[in-house]
Amino acid sequence: MSLNFEFSEEQRMLEESVWRWASTWLEPQMEKLYEEDKMPPDFFKELGKLGVNGIAFEEEYGGAGLGYVETLLAYETIGRVSNALAMSAGASQTLCFDNFRRHATDDQKKEILPKACSGEYIGCLGITEPNAGSDAMSMSTRAVKKGNKYIVNGSKTFITNGPVADFMVFYAKTEPDKKARGMSAFFFFPKKTKGFSCEKIKKWGMRTSPTGLLTFEDMELPEENLIGGFNRGVGVLTGGLCTERITLSGCSLGSQRSCLELSIKYAKERVQFGRPIADFQMIQEKLANMYTGYISSKMMAYRAAAYCDSLKDKRGGKGTDLDRMAAASLLYCGETGTKIAADAIQIHGGYLDQKLWDIGAGTSEIRRMIIARELMRDDFQSGR
Ligand SMILES: Cc1cc2nc3c(=O)[nH]c(=O)nc-3n(C[C@H](O)[C@H](O)[C@H](O)COP(=O)(O)OP(=O)(O)OC[C@H]3O[C@@H](n4cnc5c(N)ncnc54)[C@H](O)[C@@H]3O)c2cc1C
Repeated sequence: MSLNFEFSEEQRMLEESVWRWASTWLEPQMEKLYEEDKMPPDFFKELGKLGVNGIAFEEEYGGAGLGYVETLLAYETIGRVSNALAMSAGASQTLCFDNFRRHATDDQKKEILPKACSGEYIGCLGITEPNAGSDAMSMSTRAVKKGNKYIVNGSKTFITNGPVADFMVFYAKTEPDKKARGMSAFFFFPKKTKGFSCEKIKKWGMRTSPTGLLTFEDMELPEENLIGGFNRGVGVLTGGLCTERITLSGCSLGSQRSCLELSIKYAKERVQFGRPIADFQMIQEKLANMYTGYISSKMMAYRAAAYCDSLKDKRGGKGTDLDRMAAASLLYCGETGTKIAADAIQIHGGYLDQKLWDIGAGTSEIRRMIIARELMRDDFQSGR
């Protein structure tokens, strides 16, 4: 029996088509867009044409019917050109629409998902609040039921795509006394809803990916906009975080790969002391470490994605092997990516954006806590 680490022919074709688009359509615009901190206006429509938006969604909703391995591969390939835009793609498709897809009714999915797949709708997900980051369950946004409506008050911060989003999934406390068990998930249309406002946050890195500080002031939502059930938000949130952590590992992989490729090229071209700097053993050591780090990150991430694809319900959350694997994937990719970026900077500068993957989707500390918790399970099998 052999253990196959190769991509299939179909996966290679996907990678090639996304790379052709990223290197010819996206890359030439990036310098100007980065300077202006602007997302390309047709970014999501272009992803729609490539079939990337609905890559893991069922064909009946306009998706490609593929899995999280392919999603990860697409984000890695976009991430080779822009870590920030790969994150925006993931925030819309995986964090927002994929989460919605798992919990919405069939009619809601038929109405929304084809527009997500075509790129007509851009999505965002709101968990983080100014006073609730790692401790997400301490959120204070409230949704109070009044007749057949919910009235929402509160705020969310650091929301990727917030300033451009057509559709949003977010969490609010519906019965605060019940703490984590008193939280629910909702969706709505930010551009069409009164009582909602968004301020764009200026960032040092991850430019071109718009980030928002959102405010809900007596925002009214019809009761049909509740997803996953009343007070069931914690299950929606934790179930979705695993696929988020796995697929967003691709953003880190893409920039790790770019760091490596650009560093090899520069080390061969840059001449000092009459020789290319690639001839010096200390530069060779960095390049060897960068390569090893990238390949090991890749193994961690694709293994977690393949494991997720092999599961019937593809759900993570407390008490699952997927929870540990997903946290380990982004922990390793994030921290290794930061080291690789530091080596690339040492060789020729750039790529500070990589640091985000030690922070977003649960910080490294939080991912370690999840891994340790799952290691303590009585049925833990060390080989998995
Ligand atoms: C560019 C960007 C995009 C983002 N996009 C989104 C988005 O689309 N949607 C969304 O909801 N959120 C988003 N986030 C928010 C992100 O998920 C949070 O930044 C992250 O969860 C950390 O929260 P915090 O920044 O409030 O840090 P804090 O939670 O305040 O943490 C500060 C420090 O304390 C440490 N710490 C906290 N608790 C513990 C503990 N128990 N043990 C040990 N150490 C601990 C942390 O690890 C960290 O080092 C985004 C963030 C950024 C920067």
